[in-house]
Amino acid sequence: MSNWPENIARKSIVEFSAYSARGGSTSALHLDANESPYAPPPVKGAEGYNRYPEQQPSALRQRLADLYGTNIERIMVGRGADEAIEVLLRTFCEAGQDNILICSPTFGYYATCAQIQGAGIIDVPLGKDYQWNNEAIIKAASNAKNLKVIFLCTPNNPTGTIIQDDLVEQLCERFPNVLIAVDEAYEEFSSAPSYTPKTKEFQNLIVMRTLSKAYALAGVRGGVAIADPRVIDLMLKVLPPYPIARPVEDAIMNALSPAAMSTHAARLTEWLSERDRMFEALQSSSFVEKVYPSEANFLLLDVKDDKKLMDELSPRQVKIRDYRKTTGHMRISIGSPEENTIALEAFGVSVPEVSADRIGETHRKTKETDISVRVNLDDPKVIKIDTGIGFYDHMLESLAKHSGIGLVLTCKGDLEIDAHHTVEDCALALGTALKQALGDKAGIGRFGFVMPMDETQARVAVDLSGRPAMTFKGSFPTDHVGEFPAEMCPHVFESLAQTLGAAIQIEVEGENTHHMIEASFKGVARALRPAFARSGTDIASTKGVI
Ligand SMILES: *Cc1c(COP(=O)(O)O)cnc(C)c1O
Repeated sequence: MSNWPENIARKSIVEFSAYSARGGSTSALHLDANESPYAPPPVKGAEGYNRYPEQQPSALRQRLADLYGTNIERIMVGRGADEAIEVLLRTFCEAGQDNILICSPTFGYYATCAQIQGAGIIDVPLGKDYQWNNEAIIKAASNAKNLKVIFLCTPNNPTGTIIQDDLVEQLCERFPNVLIAVDEAYEEFSSAPSYTPKTKEFQNLIVMRTLSKAYALAGVRGGVAIADPRVIDLMLKVLPPYPIARPVEDAIMNALSPAAMSTHAARLTEWLSERDRMFEALQSSSFVEKVYPSEANFLLLDVKDDKKLMDELSPRQVKIRDYRKTTGHMRISIGSPEENTIALEAFGVSVPEVSADRIGETHRKTKETDISVRVNLDDPKVIKIDTGIGFYDHMLESLAKHSGIGLVLTCKGDLEIDAHHTVEDCALALGTALKQALGDKAGIGRFGFVMPMDETQARVAVDLSGRPAMTFKGSFPTDHVGEFPAEMCPHVFESLAQTLGAAIQIEVEGENTHHMIEASFKGVARALRPAFARSGTDIASTKGVI
C-alpha cells in the first residue's frame, strides 16, 4: 500500500495543490502579502499582529509536540479538537458515499460534522456499564461499506468511561484502511495512559487532544490531532491557511510556559479530589438515583424528581447538562470547591460548613524570568520549589514549612547571567500570591513575632499591615552560600514585604552565613505562621480594614 493514505482520502483532496500562503515573519522584506507595515495600535504587545501568522506557528507546534510527547511533524494544531475532527472528516469522507462509526452516547460533534460533510453515521451503542461493545463494533465495521473513520472517545463524554482493553489496537490492525480516531479530550483526568505513542505503531491511528479542559483555555480555542505525518500532511491541505491567530498563540504559549506546568499539576490534584468528593456527596442526594464513576472532569447522573431538582438549580443559577431527552441522564462538571458546594446545596446535600482554602496564584513572566506560584494558606500538604538555585529552594521550602503553608513555586530564570533576577522576582511573585490568598484578611492574626534560634540569633517581627516596610540588621561573614549571593537575603524580604504589603523587621547575628540566612527565613516563617492563622471572621484592626 505504497500510496497510503492517499488511497483512502477524498480524491479531490489528493489532487488539488495546497493553497500557497507564506505566513510568519522573517528577517526578509515582506512585500508579498499586502500586509500593513505598521503594528496596530496599541503598538505595545501587538508587535507582529500586522503579519499573517504561519499556518502552523512553529514554536507553538513544537511546544504542543513536547506537551504531548510526540514529534512536531505528527501534530496538526487547530482551533480546538473540534477543528481536528472536522478537518479529518473533510479530508477522508466523500459526501453521499463514505461513513463514520460512533458509539453512542458520545460527543455529539462527530455526528454533526458527518452530517455537514454528507457522510453516513453507523452507531454501535455502548453496552453494559457504558463499555464498548467490541464484537458489535468489529462486526459493524466489517459489514460497513466505505467506512472511513471510527470515533472512540476515551474517557467518553458524557459517560466518563474509558476503554480498558485492546479495542483500539485490535481495530487498528483489523481495519488498516479505516482511521481509528481516539478522542482524548479528557485524558489528563484519567488513570489510563494516552494512545499518543501508539500513533508510531499504527499509521491509521489518530489521537485528538484539547487545551480547553485541563489547561483552562476553552475561550482561546486550541487543540491538536496527532497521527502519522502523511495523514497530518493531507489534513494540513484542508486546514485553512491561517487558523491560529497570533494572540491565540501568545495566550497558549503563556499558559503552557514551563513554569506554569506546576500550577496546572497542583490544580489537577485539587480537581480530582473534588471529583471524589462530588461522587460521594451526590450519592446521598434524594434527587440522584445513580452516580456513574468517571475518569473525566464531570459526572453522569441518573436523576429522579427532575422537575423539583430543576426548581432547586435554577434560582441558584446552577446549570448542568440535561440529556434527559436523549439518554435520560444529566451531566455535571466538576467546578471549583466553592462552586461544587453551591451545586451540592441545590441537590439538597448538606456539606459541613468549611471556609474555602485561601489560595493565591501568580504568574509572572518577563524577559529575565518565568515564574509560577501557587500558595495555599490552609493546606500545607504540597510544597514543591524549583528555582534552579539549590540553596534558595531550600530556604523557600523552609519558609513554607515553618509558616505552615502549601507552596508550589517554579522559576525558569536567566541564571546564566546571575541569580539576582531569579531571587528577586520569585520573592515578588510569592508576596503577590500570598497577598491574593489573604484576600480581605478576615479572621487572621496579622502580627507575628519570634525570638532567637540556635547559636545564631534571629529576631523577626512581622505585621501584615498592608504597608510595605523592611528593616534588616546584620552582616554576613561570607558573600555567597552556594550560588546564592548573601546580599540577596535582605533583598528577598524587601521584595516580599513590597508585594505582600507587610512590615518585616529582621535582626540577625551569627558567625556562619548559611545559618544566618536560614535563621532569617525560618524566623520570618515562624512570624508569618500566627499572622496567617485564621480564626473567626474579625478584621484585626480598629479601622476594620487592613
Ligand atoms: C470538549 C470536547 C472536545 C472539543 O474540544 P475543543 O478543543 O474545545 O474543540 C472534543 N471532544 C470531546 C469529547 C469533548 O468533550
